Amino acid sequence: MKEDGKNNYNIFKPSPNSSGIEQLTLENSIRKALREEEFVLYYQPQIDTLTGNIIGTEALVRWNHPTLGLVPPAKFIPIAEETGLIVPLGEWVLRTACIQNQIWKEKGYPPMSVSVNLSSRQFSKQNLVKTITEILHETHIDPQYLELEITESMTMNVEVAIEVLGRLKELGIQICIDDFGTGYSNLYYLKLFSIDRLKIDQSFVRDIMTDSNDADIVATIIAMAHNLGIDVIAEGVETKEQLDFLRSQNCHEVQGFYYHRPLPAEQIEQLLMKTME
Ligand code: C2E
Ligand code: CA
Ligand code: CA
Ligand code: CA
Repeated sequence: MKEDGKNNYNIFKPSPNSSGIEQLTLENSIRKALREEEFVLYYQPQIDTLTGNIIGTEALVRWNHPTLGLVPPAKFIPIAEETGLIVPLGEWVLRTACIQNQIWKEKGYPPMSVSVNLSSRQFSKQNLVKTITEILHETHIDPQYLELEITESMTMNVEVAIEVLGRLKELGIQICIDDFGTGYSNLYYLKLFSIDRLKIDQSFVRDIMTDSNDADIVATIIAMAHNLGIDVIAEGVETKEQLDFLRSQNCHEVQGFYYHRPLPAEQIEQLLMKTME
């Protein structure tokens, strides 16, 4: 990354005591980026290891910055959350992901779901159900192919969560708990919230082969999910050994660099074309 006259390098440098001015600069750049459509979605395939098929993708946002190039979400999502800009950004992500998924469907590729990350700021917004209802109507996506990823660490009021999740389920969309195992999991909520899928956090998957505690945790999460009738997917799968372990524990849905990195839509389409040959 180069430094330019506008000090763009500095505004992305995370520093614990970053000044109010830097925050403001970044906030204004995000606002401008939304207006000028500088955000772009990458999609990471989710694979059914029993068939080798792509069963879905996770939409992951990047900022295609005019001078800095592709900026990863870790550099701007936290400020977007702090400032509330995650609400319009998140709505753009939801809409764009649904439009893209529907384009793939209409081109005749086998049905795939699209998973979208949700931040608690969006969740607590009363408008979430309304926004999603509108997006479903606009894009004609079959709701069963839209999955929302929430995390255990999302701070939300339990009554509000039950109500909102209940209304989202009524719409027919899927709910997944992301980064499962890293927060305070109240197992009771898995049933109460009618969760469809758990995504085992990549920190456990990373050390499966070297840390027997992590291997035990992963095996336990998979068994528990199966007992509760909840689907389970593992993320961050990078090696054949990790994959083999997961398969031996009956986890057959995976996502990770071993198969594919997050890719621009055009490259996903090339993959889909290959599978149709
Ligand atoms: P996440 O939801 O846990 O997403 C998975 C992250 O792991 C992605 O990083 C992905 O590129 C990376 N990853 C995938 N496979 C592997 C692997 O095999 N090994 C390793 N080491 N990493 C892998 P990314 O795209 O940089 O996203 C980081 C985080 O930013 C996401 O973590 C999510 O919390 C947040 N994020 C991304 N897009 C959005 C969005 O549209 N809205 C919100 N609210 N958050 C988002
Ligand atoms: Ca995620
Ligand atoms: Ca995750
Ligand atoms: Ca994560």
